[in-house]
Amino acid sequence: MDAEVAVVGNGVAGYSCAARLARHGIRPLLIGRGLPVDRPPLTKNALAAGTLRLLADEARLDSLGIDRLDGMVDDADLDARRLVVGETEIEAAAIVLATGLAYRPPRIPGMDVAHVNANPRGMERLVLALAGGPKRVVVIGAGLIGTETGATLATAGHDVTALDVLPRPLDRLHDPLPALAAEALAATGARFVGGAQITELRRVGDDDLVTVCWEDGELVAEVVVAATGGRPFAPPGLGIDAAELPLAVGVDLRVAGFDRVHAVGDLILAPHARFGPIRFPHWDTAIATGERAADAIAAIDGELDRLPHWWTDIGPHTFAEVGWADAAVEWADEDGLHVGRDAAGEVVAALVADDPRRLRAARALVGS
Ligand SMILES: Cc1cc2nc3c(=O)[nH]c(=O)nc-3n(C[C@H](O)[C@H](O)[C@H](O)COP(=O)(O)OP(=O)(O)OC[C@H]3O[C@@H](n4cnc5c(N)ncnc54)[C@H](O)[C@@H]3O)c2cc1C
Repeated sequence: MDAEVAVVGNGVAGYSCAARLARHGIRPLLIGRGLPVDRPPLTKNALAAGTLRLLADEARLDSLGIDRLDGMVDDADLDARRLVVGETEIEAAAIVLATGLAYRPPRIPGMDVAHVNANPRGMERLVLALAGGPKRVVVIGAGLIGTETGATLATAGHDVTALDVLPRPLDRLHDPLPALAAEALAATGARFVGGAQITELRRVGDDDLVTVCWEDGELVAEVVVAATGGRPFAPPGLGIDAAELPLAVGVDLRVAGFDRVHAVGDLILAPHARFGPIRFPHWDTAIATGERAADAIAAIDGELDRLPHWWTDIGPHTFAEVGWADAAVEWADEDGLHVGRDAAGEVVAALVADDPRRLRAARALVGS
């Protein structure tokens, strides 16, 4: 089978790239399992409603002019731009790698009973396990995915405890985000236990109960969710060394050392015109890199200059940030915005709490 452009991975970045290629009159082949599914709803309204939110259904893909191959790439020769999906071999004029992150829980005894809702199949399995009335739920990991999941499940009436080895939810992010997250999570009725280094998960008798153990505590749960983070993932058959991830790419999102092979989304260090290369595994950058790669393939000049942006929804609260917080050395409240400045005093990031209308002001401030 021949393809003008084969896009490996049908998540957010892969789909945005395919849609933009189609708009440029280039017919992409989007490869991945099932239909393209959006990711943020997996911890929010899709989890609450129990149904996935598609980025596009079959009819929409058809009308856009996107071909689809349902399966996973398990072997490839990137130099020859050849891919293997089961029994199908694809020769592509160009390839876009969009395989995102893998969300594998750490190797802790008994952890295999834990659910992972960061991917569509995992979320569907979790929804089945939660059916039939309120459950005692333990969420291991209180980063963005764990905190959102805990808040959504507590809001739906489950008895939720979120555990983390760190002292506060979102503790890897800058202040005041951890304090805001702790308040927002508590307001949903979920409990949080910090300093909990999980040692073991043990089944209790013949029931479907699990004891989650850490150094100085334990909790019995009916459902355990592992939200311990993700790592950039390239299928082993691609011949890309895990030590090279996230992948470094040029301004045209091309992977160094390969001809006409691009990479996008969470898999890469985004080559941002002002802040890059940056590791920024968030929805808006997945779309921006997908679109930029499509433009580059269509020989349209440009650079990745959209300001980085991410948001989180914890229960009814939304916290959104524009810019690149890692560049900030000091933060201050300025007229209701939490503003980060770099060593030269330049505004590099702004955090907006619960006021989406301020996002425009935040963009203007960081962009000015
Ligand atoms: C649960 C969740 C909630 C999120 N919430 C937010 C949010 O609130 N705000 C925000 O800013 N960002 C959020 N994000 C981040 C954002 O969704 C990601 O940055 C974005 O999805 C990354 O896009 P991607 O295409 O690189 O990866 P993904 O969207 O993860 O897609 C990668 C795809 O590649 C496929 N794949 C992997 N290997 C192969 C293979 N061998 N062959 C074919 N296909 C393959 C995978 O199955 C997957 O479908 C969230 C992410 C998750 C997981």
